[in-house]
Amino acid sequence: MSDSPIDPTLLDRLAEVSIRTGLNLQPGQQLVLTAPVAALPLVRAVTAAAYRAGASLVTPILSDPEVALARYRNATDDSFDTAPGWLYSGMAEAFAGGAARMAIVGEDPMLMSEQDPARVSRAGKANSTAYKPALTKIANFEINWTICAWPGAEWAQRMFPDLAPDAAQARLAEAIFAASRVTGDDPVTAWAEHNAALRARTEWMNAQRFSALHFRSPGTDLTVGLADDHEWHGGASEAQNGVVCNPNIPTEEVFTTPHAQRVDGTVRSTKPLSHQGSLIDDIAVTFKDGRIVEAAAGTGGDILRELLATDEGAARLGEVALVPHSSPISQSGLLFYNTLFDENAACHIALGQCYSKCFLDGASLSPDEVAARGGNTSLIHVDWMIGGAETDIDGLTASGDRVPVFRGGEWA
Ligand code: ZN
Ligand code: ZN
Repeated sequence: MSDSPIDPTLLDRLAEVSIRTGLNLQPGQQLVLTAPVAALPLVRAVTAAAYRAGASLVTPILSDPEVALARYRNATDDSFDTAPGWLYSGMAEAFAGGAARMAIVGEDPMLMSEQDPARVSRAGKANSTAYKPALTKIANFEINWTICAWPGAEWAQRMFPDLAPDAAQARLAEAIFAASRVTGDDPVTAWAEHNAALRARTEWMNAQRFSALHFRSPGTDLTVGLADDHEWHGGASEAQNGVVCNPNIPTEEVFTTPHAQRVDGTVRSTKPLSHQGSLIDDIAVTFKDGRIVEAAAGTGGDILRELLATDEGAARLGEVALVPHSSPISQSGLLFYNTLFDENAACHIALGQCYSKCFLDGASLSPDEVAARGGNTSLIHVDWMIGGAETDIDGLTASGDRVPVFRGGEWA
C-alpha cells in the first residue's frame, strides 16, 4: 500500500490506455514525451508501457514551474523573444524519422497570472514560431500523437481551494481517471466502444454535407460557415503514417474546419479559458466575414487582445466542435481550467490554425489547397467554450434548408 493520494492501479491503467489507445504505439517506434517534472510517476508508468508495446526508445523532456518563473523574475527583457529552436528542430527531425509524440499536461493553469501579459505573450509567440516545424507535423497529423493528464498538486488546489492539498489532488486524480475512462477493469475495450459511438456521429454529420451551422443560446447568434470539402472527425482516427490513434485522452468532441471567411454574428463564452497560465473569462466577440471585429472579456481582456493580434489568422476560426451537455465531463460539474478537459464539456470553437485532416483527402492537400477551401492558418490554436444547456444548433444546407442538430444542448 502507498499513501499517495493517487491510486497507483488507476495510474498504471491511464499509462496503458495512453500508449495502447491514445498513441497505439507501434513496435520499433520511438516516443518523444513532454511532461511537468511533478508528473514523474506517470512518466515512469508510460515509459514502462511504451517499452512493453515494443518502443525502440522513449525520450522524456521535463519542465518545471519554478524554472519557468525564474525567467520572469530574473531574465533581461531580451530573453522574452527567445525560444529553443534547436530543440524543436530536433523534435521535427524525430517526427520525420517516425517517432510518436505524447504530451502529459498537469501544470498550474494560472502559473503566469502574476506576470506581465506583454512578456507572456512575447514568450508565447517566440515559442510558437520556433515550434512551428514540429507543430506542423502534428497539426497535419503526419504522426500518431496524444495528450493525457497528470493530477498536478497546484492545478488541484486551483480546482478545489477548500480542500487540504492531498484531498484536492485525490479529487482531481479521480476526476481525471473517470473522464479518461480508465476506472473499469478493461479500459482499452471501453475506449473501443466509445470510439464507435463517436464514429456514428461523425458519419451522420459527414452525410449531411452542411454548408454552415447556426448556433443560438443566450448572448450567442452565430453562423459558422464550414470549409469546402470539410470532413468531421472524432475519437480515433488514422494519422498519415497509417497508425489509428486517439489524439486526446479524454475526448468527447466531433469537430471540423470552419470557413475562414464565412463566420458572422456574435458569440459569448460559457466557461473561462486558461491560456498559457492566464485566465480569460466572459468573452464576447463579433465576427464579420470570418474575422473578429469586436472583442471584449470580463477578465483577461488584454491577454485576449494580445492573442488576437498574434497574426492575421489569430482573429479567425480554425475549428468548430460539437459536444453534448450530457457528456460525462460536463455532468461532473467541474471546471478544470484546462482545455483538454473543458473543451470536452461543451461545444467550442478555436481561434487560429485549422487541422488539414478535417478535409476530404486532407492528407494530399497542399497548404495553398487547404487555404483555397477556407482553411485558416495561424501560429495559434486556442479553443474556447460556447456551448451549454441552452445551446440550439441548426445545420444549413447549400439549398437553404435547416436541419436540427442540437436542441437544448443535446444531439437533436
Ligand atoms: Zn476541439
Ligand atoms: Zn482545438
